[in-house]
Amino acid sequence: MSFDHAVRAPERRERELWFAVAGSKLVTVTGGDAGGPTGFPGAPVLPATEPHYLGGLDGVHCFAYAVDAEPTLPEGHAVSDLRSLWSTVSEQLWAVAGKAVQIVDWDRTHRFCGRCGTPTERVDADRSRRCPACSLSAYPRLAPAVICVVERGDELLLAHGTRFPAPFYSALAGFVEPGESLEGAVVREIREEVGVEVENVRYYGSQPWPFPHSLMIGFHATWKSGEIVIDPSEIADARFFPKDDLPLIPPPLSIARTLIDVAVARRG
Ligand SMILES: [Zn+2]
Repeated sequence: MSFDHAVRAPERRERELWFAVAGSKLVTVTGGDAGGPTGFPGAPVLPATEPHYLGGLDGVHCFAYAVDAEPTLPEGHAVSDLRSLWSTVSEQLWAVAGKAVQIVDWDRTHRFCGRCGTPTERVDADRSRRCPACSLSAYPRLAPAVICVVERGDELLLAHGTRFPAPFYSALAGFVEPGESLEGAVVREIREEVGVEVENVRYYGSQPWPFPHSLMIGFHATWKSGEIVIDPSEIADARFFPKDDLPLIPPPLSIARTLIDVAVARRG
C-alpha cells in the first residue's frame, strides 16, 4: 500500500474514506466477531463541513472532518481511540487516521491569528490558515523527536520512563530543540536522561507519531563513556541489558521495537 499526500482532491474519485474526528478520536465502522471497529466509513456519516482532503491510499481518496466530541452516530458505528486502532487496522491506514486527527486538530486550534487575534481564513492551496489583517500564516504543526537504542558490545541501553503507560523498557527519546541537529539531539537527550556519552549516531528510519503531533526519528548509537545516572524526573530505571536477556519491550510495529529488533539481530 502506498499513500500519496495531497492537499487538493482530484475531481474523479471512485472510492473514498471519511475520517470523522471527534476530539482526539475517530468514528469507526463496527462489526466483526466481537463487534469491535473494523475500519472507517466510505462516506460521511455526519455532516462534513469544511472537509480536508488528505491524499490517496492506493486510489482510495481520504478526507477528514471535525464532528462533536461525543457525536450521535448511526447504528454500526462507534468512536475509537487512535491507540486502540493500532493493532486493528493496517499500519498504512493507521498512519492516515493519525494524519486525519492531526490536521483536524491543527485546523481547530488555529482559528485566530497568534500575532494579532484576528480570525484566520483557510487557504486550501497549501494547507495553511492565514490572517487577513497581518498575513501571518499557520501550517500544521509537527514536533520532531529523536529515539535511540544505545549499544555497548552485546548489551542495549533501555529505560523505563516515568510516564510510560506499560511496564516495558524502551529506547531513549526526546524532542529536538530549535537550532539543533538530529544527531545533536540524540547526544544531548541521552546525556540528560541517563548521563552517558554516545558516539557513532546512525539514522535508521522514522515513524509518524500523532500523540499529538510528533514525528519519531530513529537512531542507533554506540556507548562511548560514562555510567548510568538517571534523571528521576524523566526516567524511573535504565540499564544495559544483554541482547539475549531483554526485559519486556514495546509491541511490534512501533519504531522503538524495530530499533531494538535490528540491534539484537546484529549480534555476532
Ligand atoms: Zn494577524
